[in-house]
Amino acid sequence: MWPYHPDLLATPVPRYTSFPTAAEFGPLDEGAYADALSTATGDVSLYVHIPFCEKICWYCGCNTAAANKAQRLATYLDALHREIALVAAQLPASARVRRIAFGGGSPNALNPIDFVRLFDELVLHFPIEDPVVSIELDPRTLTPEWGAVLGAIGATRASLGVQTFSPPLQEAIGRVQPLCLIEHGVEILRKAGVTSMNFDLMYGLPGQTVDDLESTLRLSTAFGAERIALFGYAHVPHLIARQQRIDASALPGPEERFRMAELGLRQLLAADYVPVGFDHFALPRDPLGHAALGGRLHRNFQGFTDDAAPVLLGLGASAIGSFPTLLAQNEKNAGRYRMLLSQERLPVALGKARSADDRRRGAVIEELLCRGRARVCRAMLDEAWDRLTPYVETGLCEIEGEYLVIGDHALAYARSIAAAFDPYRQHSPRRFSSAV
Ligand code: SF4
Repeated sequence: MWPYHPDLLATPVPRYTSFPTAAEFGPLDEGAYADALSTATGDVSLYVHIPFCEKICWYCGCNTAAANKAQRLATYLDALHREIALVAAQLPASARVRRIAFGGGSPNALNPIDFVRLFDELVLHFPIEDPVVSIELDPRTLTPEWGAVLGAIGATRASLGVQTFSPPLQEAIGRVQPLCLIEHGVEILRKAGVTSMNFDLMYGLPGQTVDDLESTLRLSTAFGAERIALFGYAHVPHLIARQQRIDASALPGPEERFRMAELGLRQLLAADYVPVGFDHFALPRDPLGHAALGGRLHRNFQGFTDDAAPVLLGLGASAIGSFPTLLAQNEKNAGRYRMLLSQERLPVALGKARSADDRRRGAVIEELLCRGRARVCRAMLDEAWDRLTPYVETGLCEIEGEYLVIGDHALAYARSIAAAFDPYRQHSPRRFSSAV
């Protein structure tokens, strides 16, 4: 069994999809973003944010809104097309786009024809070369027309929001999607040529038992999902108002959550998946599983990835981009996002320049989360030592020469151990979720 030390999991910690994290972002002017853009060279990845969903789930913390007004979608897409033209025009000729990821929200909340136009716009403006195309999809709106679209744009990777197969749990989180809907969605994806299919699942749901989770994991592996992301539900209704509809009194306690995370690992290992970081799993033949086994895993705003590109351009309201020396986030408010683009301005609002120290610490944190070990210089280790001591004393991590190594039994503590190298973490812990 995993050792349970509640005191070492008590402090909320970031998910570290970047370092510094978005909590450190401050106002960013357009000039700083344009300067970073002008330095992009070699492989570049695109992330395109579609902040709409057909139905809003009660647990969701994403920047998304109901897609029930045609005019709202049309004006957003109009602004997004402008941003694509504006950003692409400033990208140096030496840059090549090798990956395109669509996320949200739910990209398939759009009309399929509008989505094809959006893809065409990217192709028209960016220097795209044999790209890997991935997309997040809501099974509730995954129609056969979408299958044709995915095939036409060459999407080979897709992520379905499944969360749980238990009907009462689906009711409890405001996301009802019968099993037949997932069966139908999987059939559409496979016919369209998707070879890497991810299921997003959750533990720690209101009323969820270990048996519920075990059954959802069994069905997910039976569907042949090449990837499974198993996230702990973070109940923070003071930050996410829509979560107030969730019955907090039915939420599993911290130790039950911890055992659910452990069950997930054991069951997926038994089903031949390999662990990818602390909350993803993949079959060894999948590119993500391959990257994990080969020590080539990375972490970016989309989570664990096999994408090694040094530049990620975020397009769309609230999208985050990263450059070696800068993190930048677009305006979150859709109205202001549209207004900036109507003035032909880059719609960036927030960001953080990455100092040399940030980059060194970011590399250590990424190594710890992706590979469970990191080479740490003496000065950085000394500075973090007081925060690391409880984890070392309980055998959750150890020093091996110049390396800090997290034990296989200590996956649940990886984010907390990594946080020891984060000097910004001494303030505002309430903004983050618990480590498990
Ligand atoms: S479909 Fe996904 S993005 Fe949309 S509300 Fe539900 S969880 Fe959030």
